[in-house]
Amino acid sequence: MQISAQLQGILDRALERKAPMRDEMVQLLRYSEQSLEAGIIRAVANRITRERSRNLAILSGQIGYATAPCAGDCAFCVFGAGHSTFPEVNMSVEEVAEHAKAFTSRGVLTTLWLMSMHQFDFARFLEIVAAVRAVVPEYVIVSSNVGDLTLEQAKELKAAGLAGAYHTIRLREGLDTKLDRNERIQTVRNIQEAGLHWGFCCEPIGPEHTPEELADQILFGMSLRPQSFGAMRRVWLPNSPIADRGQITQVRLAQVVAVVTFATLADPNIVAIGAHEPNLICLMSGANSACAECGANPRDETVETSKNLGLSVDNCVRMVYEAGFDGVVRPDRQVVPFSSPTNR
Ligand code: SF4
Repeated sequence: MQISAQLQGILDRALERKAPMRDEMVQLLRYSEQSLEAGIIRAVANRITRERSRNLAILSGQIGYATAPCAGDCAFCVFGAGHSTFPEVNMSVEEVAEHAKAFTSRGVLTTLWLMSMHQFDFARFLEIVAAVRAVVPEYVIVSSNVGDLTLEQAKELKAAGLAGAYHTIRLREGLDTKLDRNERIQTVRNIQEAGLHWGFCCEPIGPEHTPEELADQILFGMSLRPQSFGAMRRVWLPNSPIADRGQITQVRLAQVVAVVTFATLADPNIVAIGAHEPNLICLMSGANSACAECGANPRDETVETSKNLGLSVDNCVRMVYEAGFDGVVRPDRQVVPFSSPTNR
């Protein structure tokens, strides 16, 4: 068996914790997902994450608490106003708090995201954040996944109990979405300045995204200094205006996850590498993070995603156990080991 000296060099340097250059990332992404090279790339990324994470996984959960036809009009999202047939959903504060309690009851979650649309009722969101903060364990990072935030709003949310935020600048933002890339970047700055934990994800990946585009997006994400990183594929939706572009496989997503893993070597503080939807291939290719979901989900036409695409916390525990992780680590540094059968 032989791989090129150039690939060998990139992988050897990655094993020495040195991130690849842009052109090297492009090369890694150019290999066919079924090639021997792609398999080796994923295996090396898996090895790196196992070492960096001490073979521990990180679990999170998301509650999609409110939906409406969304002005962001993202072509890949079930809520995009131009094509959405998704009914409006508005969970009560009590319902959200109940879901939050259920998600955190096993004591394995690191982060709990509260998701709504680009335009959302800020006062109501403050109320929800406070209610969730009151019922979840102290170590859980209560996080937002909502529209753009001013610095003042980010600080207000922090005072109400928010500790993190997911806000990404998407592939082809402004082309496949009606959102302003610069406003999204400004929100990231506001989140960081308010002192909230912030993570980036290379998303939503489809077959049309070239190796160059993916490498640039990953490096752009790194330039914003995230504290966690992930990759997500676009899920094929029949109503989407870009349905004809299709969907990548979990194997291709895993190859991107592997390259994300290498790129994050530039920042040793990043230990959580996510993949959406979580799957075993990605968890064997550099990902160590999985997310449970309930309520509405931008990638799922089913109103209650836990009945379709969304994994339960138990599903996530089982998946990371099957992927060979020794346990789950929480933000308070507590490790929940899988040595006991009741924790699997
Ligand atoms: S991805 Fe977010 S901003 Fe875009 S349409 Fe969906 S809910 Fe709106």
